[in-house]
Amino acid sequence: MSVHDQFAEDLALHALGALAGQEKETLEKHLEECSHCRGELQQLQSDMTLLAFSTMGPVPPPKSRKRLLRAIARERGAQVTVPKRSAWWLLVPYVVSTALIVVAAFLWKESRSLNRTLANLERRHAEMEKQLRVAQDLVNTLTSPESKHITLAPVKALPQPQGKAYYLSSSGHLIFLANNLAPLLPDKVYELWLIPSTGSPIPAGLFQPDSHGAATVVNPPLPIGIEAKAFAITIEPAGGSPAPTSQPIMLGAA
Ligand SMILES: [Zn+2]
Repeated sequence: MSVHDQFAEDLALHALGALAGQEKETLEKHLEECSHCRGELQQLQSDMTLLAFSTMGPVPPPKSRKRLLRAIARERGAQVTVPKRSAWWLLVPYVVSTALIVVAAFLWKESRSLNRTLANLERRHAEMEKQLRVAQDLVNTLTSPESKHITLAPVKALPQPQGKAYYLSSSGHLIFLANNLAPLLPDKVYELWLIPSTGSPIPAGLFQPDSHGAATVVNPPLPIGIEAKAFAITIEPAGGSPAPTSQPIMLGAA
């Protein structure tokens, strides 16, 4: 395939005024540098003009008729003999098939662009699925009951209760992980609080530690866009409280 062959289809579309966007730019750039393709385009454009004349006037110029018939022959991959008599009605079938070729070229161009759009959408869909899988794996690792939570501490110290809050104010999403929590009496519960930069503490989930003292809170219902000044934990009566009823046992500034 020569350098120019790749532009052959686009040249035909360009002559029809059916080329647009990136392909048009690429072709026009090539045309600036390539006299071969410029000549080809002129030839095609004059064929189009003569084709227009041949559908309007009773007798097309014999030269254009020959060129047109040869072009059709090339499209069909077969020899077409040029009739010697110049009767305009003999041309009608060729004009019709040329018109069909023009329509087919438009449809082909249209379907090619739809295919490209579809391929783009499929690629984006695959990317999003991949990101979603990564996010799911991350959340699973943090929250799965099978996941082991190990805290490393100085060898001789007793493990201290510890909590970590991951908070995204723009989406209102919160993941809270705690470990080494003391067990509670059945009528008590730990309550997590989002302390906003202005206003009262907002309830951000209730939890009971498991037998290892670990607990998680994932995406409690929170308003979106609240800037957090701190997170705190209090011990509340079972069922939780709308506002803290005791001093925080744990506190972390955001
Ligand atoms: Zn060229």
